[in-house]
Formats: sequence, C-alpha cells, structure tokens
Amino acid sequence: MNEANIPPVQLTHDSKFKFDCHEGLSCFTTCCRGINITLTPYDIIRLKNRMQITSDEFLAVYTVPQMLQKTDLPVVTLKLLDDERESCPFVREDGCIIYSDRPTTCRYYPLGVGSLSNKEQQSQGFYFFVNEPHCLGFEEDREWTVDEWRKDQGVDVYDEMNAEWTDLIVRKRSIPSNIRLTEKTKNMFFTASYDIDRFRRFVFESSFLDLYSIDKQMVEKIREDEIELLKFGFRWLKWLLFKEGDFQMNEAAVEARRQKMNSQSQA
Ligand code: SF4
Ligand code: SF4
Repeated sequence: MNEANIPPVQLTHDSKFKFDCHEGLSCFTTCCRGINITLTPYDIIRLKNRMQITSDEFLAVYTVPQMLQKTDLPVVTLKLLDDERESCPFVREDGCIIYSDRPTTCRYYPLGVGSLSNKEQQSQGFYFFVNEPHCLGFEEDREWTVDEWRKDQGVDVYDEMNAEWTDLIVRKRSIPSNIRLTEKTKNMFFTASYDIDRFRRFVFESSFLDLYSIDKQMVEKIREDEIELLKFGFRWLKWLLFKEGDFQMNEAAVEARRQKMNSQSQA
C-alpha cells in the first residue's frame, strides 16, 4: 500500500496496518533527518544514561528549549545537527547508534499519538499515521495491530513511565490561557521533568525535605532509585500546579523559614 492511499483516520489499539522497516530499504534513515522530536522525561533518563553523562549535560548539548503550545509549560526538542540534511545527532549510514534507548517519538513512528490523555489512551486509544512521502515501510507485508507495534517497539513501557507527566500537560491545557505560571514554577516544572540530576540535588541538598512531610521509606526509595525520583517529581508537580495529591507542608518549618527570611531582609 502506498502512503498516498492511507486515509487520515483515527487509529485505536486494535487497528491493523502493514509496515516494516529495515536496512536495505532505499529510504533507510531518511526519517532521522529534518525532524521535530519533543522529548519526554523518561526519554531523557534513558538517553543520558546511555551516553553516561548527567541530565544537565545532556540537556545542554542535545536539546533545544521550547514552550509547549497552549500550556505555558517548558519542554525540550532534540537538537539536530547543523548539516545540509538537519540530521539527528545519533543517525549513521547503518542506522541509529542509540537504537535500544531511542526516544518515544522514534519508537511510535510511523504512528503519531493523537491524545496525551492517559485515560483516553487506556480506553480505545487515539493514534494516526505520520504520512511522510519518503517512508516506504507501508509497502512491506508485515501486519501489526497498533498495540502489537507499541509492544514490539517498547513504547508501551515509555508511555507508562510518562503517564502522570502527560496528564499534567493535559490538565494544564484545559486551564484558561490567561492564568499564567510564575517563572519559578516553570523552572521547577522543567527541573523535575527533565533535569533529574539537578532535581535530586534540589530534593536532598536544599531545605525541601524539611519543608515537606515525606515518609522516611519514600525518602530512601527516591534516594536510591532514579525512576522513583522521577515519579515522585511528577506527583510533586501535580501538587505544585494544581494543589492536588498527598503532599503536606511542614508548617513549623515553613514558619521558621519565613521568620529567617524576614530577619535577613531587615538586616
Ligand atoms: S534517535 Fe535514532 S531513531 Fe530517533 S531520529 Fe535519531 S537516529 Fe533516528
Ligand atoms: S522512512 Fe520509514 S521505512 Fe524508511 S527507514 Fe524510516 S521508518 Fe523505516
């Protein structure tokens, strides 16, 4: 089937399609150039660990900051090379050099995700074909359902990791656009979402653990496990943005801090 014949329909978990992608196709790796890939928090964790660098270093070298439309929230996209074809920094003639840690968008391709709502995606799902004329994979005979493709590409795991984060974005999008976030809140959203190493320092090296009443077991869990820290960050962002969830301020510590700041400003 030629991509020009593919109708622009909403696909659900059980929708079937024919597709295959492999070395030897004349289009091989053309889809890794001139692209726009928004990275998710779990993408960053996988990529920075793959490259054995910190999240701050990964963000500085490999990403471009953006504001996500209709949300007032900062996100990052993958920075392309400044070559003629605007190549992904990880593409080579024989394929992707970080394939087993490639981002969510690469795993979904040639599918796109029509809704960020975790609830909607868990029910019937909302996907579509990214119809790009250069992609010859639709002419291959291998048949998939959308869910078979997601599992094969490992993107079901990525979706689960990012579910609470995408729900935050959906919630924020539904709030009137004239309700603006402070710069401090946007910075916190960026740090907890993307810069896990900085977020760890923020939690363990600032007064954070004094200001919030956090269960000791949870503190140990997030100290030892990066994924637990990421999920903790999503829950904290939910509290920060919508005042929802099980976070509780330690009022005595908040008051002591307020008094200290007052006395410093009067000195
Ligand atoms: S990360 Fe890999 S799969 Fe994704 S665009 Fe780059 S080279 Fe292609
Ligand atoms: S353009 Fe399509 S078929 Fe070709 S390499 Fe990319 S995903 Fe595979």
